[in-house]
Amino acid sequence: MNKESQLPIVALVGLPNTGKSTLLNRISGNKQAVTSKVAGTTRDRQYAKTTWNDFNFLMVDTAGIMNESDSELNDNVQKQIDTAINEAEILILVVDAKSPKESIERDVLIKLRRIKKPLILAVNKSDSVLKSPEYLATFSALGIKKSYAVSALTGNGIGDLLDCIVEELKAIKPSPEELTPKDSIAVSIVGRPNVGKSTLFNSILKEDRVVVSSVPGTTRTSIDSQLTIDGENYTFIDTAGLKRKSYRQEEPDVYSVFQTFKSIRRSDVVLLLLEATETIIKQDQRIAGEIQDMEKGLILVVNKMDEYQGSQEALQDYISLHFPQAWMSPVFFISAKNHKGIPDVISAIKPIFEARHKVIEQETLNHFLHTKLKTQPPKRLMDQKVPKVYSLKQVSTNPPMFELLVNHPAAISKAFRQMLSNAIIRELEFWGTPVVLKLKGKDKK
Ligand code: GDP
Repeated sequence: MNKESQLPIVALVGLPNTGKSTLLNRISGNKQAVTSKVAGTTRDRQYAKTTWNDFNFLMVDTAGIMNESDSELNDNVQKQIDTAINEAEILILVVDAKSPKESIERDVLIKLRRIKKPLILAVNKSDSVLKSPEYLATFSALGIKKSYAVSALTGNGIGDLLDCIVEELKAIKPSPEELTPKDSIAVSIVGRPNVGKSTLFNSILKEDRVVVSSVPGTTRTSIDSQLTIDGENYTFIDTAGLKRKSYRQEEPDVYSVFQTFKSIRRSDVVLLLLEATETIIKQDQRIAGEIQDMEKGLILVVNKMDEYQGSQEALQDYISLHFPQAWMSPVFFISAKNHKGIPDVISAIKPIFEARHKVIEQETLNHFLHTKLKTQPPKRLMDQKVPKVYSLKQVSTNPPMFELLVNHPAAISKAFRQMLSNAIIRELEFWGTPVVLKLKGKDKK
């Protein structure tokens, strides 16, 4: 079963121009590695969900959050290393076989080694074969045991590197603060800086129905808040920053990109906060894309309605236009500062969590599929066999996952798959959450 909630992170760290993003793209584009892109375009992709030997993880390219600059161990490199240290389970130091910068890389390596997280060295651009063996030797002299000569350009050595990553990941156990209590609904509040995340969280805490059982700060490692609302337990993820925050943040910092991503990863339901008076930008859509890609429940919350003059209907249309993939998610209009609309947002969380855990009876699924095949059968694709659909069954929950047994997956059009998963959400009532539809081929030829 594909449990996404605790996907481990593998971070690519290294100096500018060592080929980290090419490496990420190579791994994403690799036919053997099943990946899907999380963030918008290839250019701004920073994360790739990767499956290798049936093992899922997220590969993160730290380059996207770092300015290209001189190859000194400057503040940016330092910041990047710190971020990777905090967030990743495994670090991959990428160095360039073509233009070795041994002294700086040695410094980086020494810093990384102190962190005591599994560290793998990837000597990239090893298509210039002459250089790489001696370069690898330099690093083995420094005591790094796992090193691979790879070429992001040609794909050489990538398979061995992925094998090693998976081997290392299998050996890691999640740290205690990473585990969300099982009888609790995990919720996170995400959005651009200054949309009002802290204000909303503090507003939720002030609600009468909300009983706070533990907030971060009581122990050194606690980062989440435990709340009870109408007898139900909720874990608000990564609220340490939200609780303490009392400043206005001018810049999206390096840390928050990872933090958002990591919070989503641990959640059942995510509240994506937007500002009524601000235009929706790519960053908002990218976060929504990440939530969708990690198959999490989503609630859209439009804040600062006290400052908005136009009609709510127009705003609703504007939101729908910019988040077409989130058609199944509810949208709420609030003023966190004035404490308006908060109860509705809180009340929407549990039904989505329940929908994510719902199990549909086989008889209902049979009837549903039968009706769909009658009214909207799959069309035959060019150069493909006549599509045949045999059965639909639910294989897991959170996220709800269904398996469609067909003759050949390639014969089933994207339009039919989309129609079917949308109909599952709409007619079998999985509001607020994506559902996963997997195709299984029955016929061998
Ligand atoms: P965060 O960075 O997303 O946590 O945002 P904050 O909660 O720190 O809020 C950023 C700024 O927006 C602060 O000055 C808040 O007072 C203000 N703010 C938050 N919610 C509202 C709201 O509903 N209406 C208005 N007018 N301002 C708000």
